[in-house]
Amino acid sequence: REKLLEVRNLAVSFKTYGGEVHAVRGVSFHVDKGETVAIVGESGCGKSVTSQTIMRLTPGIVKSGEILFEGRDLLKLSEKEMQRVRGKEIGMIFQDPMTSLNPTMTIGRQIAEGLMKHQGLSKKDALDRAVEMLRLVGIPQPESRIKQYPHQFSGGMRQRVMIAIALACNPKLLIADEPTTALDVTIQAQIIDLMKELQQKMGTSIILITHDLGVVADIADRVIVMYAGKVVEEGTVDEIFYNPQHPYTWGLLRSVPRLDADRSQELAPIPGTPPDLFAPPKGCPFAARCDYAMEVCRDYMPEETAVSATHRVSCWLQDPRAPKVEQPLVAEG
Ligand code: SF4
Ligand code: MG
Repeated sequence: REKLLEVRNLAVSFKTYGGEVHAVRGVSFHVDKGETVAIVGESGCGKSVTSQTIMRLTPGIVKSGEILFEGRDLLKLSEKEMQRVRGKEIGMIFQDPMTSLNPTMTIGRQIAEGLMKHQGLSKKDALDRAVEMLRLVGIPQPESRIKQYPHQFSGGMRQRVMIAIALACNPKLLIADEPTTALDVTIQAQIIDLMKELQQKMGTSIILITHDLGVVADIADRVIVMYAGKVVEEGTVDEIFYNPQHPYTWGLLRSVPRLDADRSQELAPIPGTPPDLFAPPKGCPFAARCDYAMEVCRDYMPEETAVSATHRVSCWLQDPRAPKVEQPLVAEG
């Protein structure tokens, strides 16, 4: 497979009155053409900041790294070149379509605008394409629906409209940040199915950002688990679901909401909270919440260990270089 996107050693910080927040701390991963990669982790783990930085829409400061999109470093493009990338090559959808749709503009107009601006289509051709896109995302009677306003659509239908807008210019990459979190379970499943179907039709690569490992099994090829601004584990869906290696991934898997439960809540069942990213710990960032933490974990940052050609983990438990422990690994409380 051919690489579409490669993020290398990305670090992003925010300057605040309280000091500098190290939100993303040396993140590397890649997305192949036609592939779906899920980035999973609790809120504040840096997953949204990472995706916003790919789009160059973050107010944060990029401290280091490269974001190679078809070999070009997006961090080096001018704002004008970047606008073209955003309109044509990378589409993005967010959790709440209401905040990204313009309430005073018809849906047809909102889809058509990007097409006129970035593809140079005439108004008529752009509106025809808008109808076609609404049909593609499963909105009934698209010819009359394009004349309606966002408030005339249900939450699930609005998310379909957002997908139509994001895909209208046929981007190579779609970044979806919690696209189904605000929706109820049945609609969530429909939106995930739709994204999968469109990906097969259009060959778009997808980065799916979510706090809920439960939604990725059906759609992702690979999963990247982030914690406290770092990638702690990465693998194929099968490797992450059937052979997870990191205690944080174990916790995430245990807290996958059941189908009959309320899926709108953030994953809370892992006790404790992530570390303060004003002053990240020098050792493993998960140590304070980890049932398996050893002395080495608190003092030294675990390095990456390869589990397979596609599976890597940063945890001393899996690291052959870890000092041998005499006593069994027991929880500290
Ligand atoms: Fe737990 Fe240590 Fe692994 Fe961190 S490195 S996840 S503290 S066992
Ligand atoms: Mg987020």
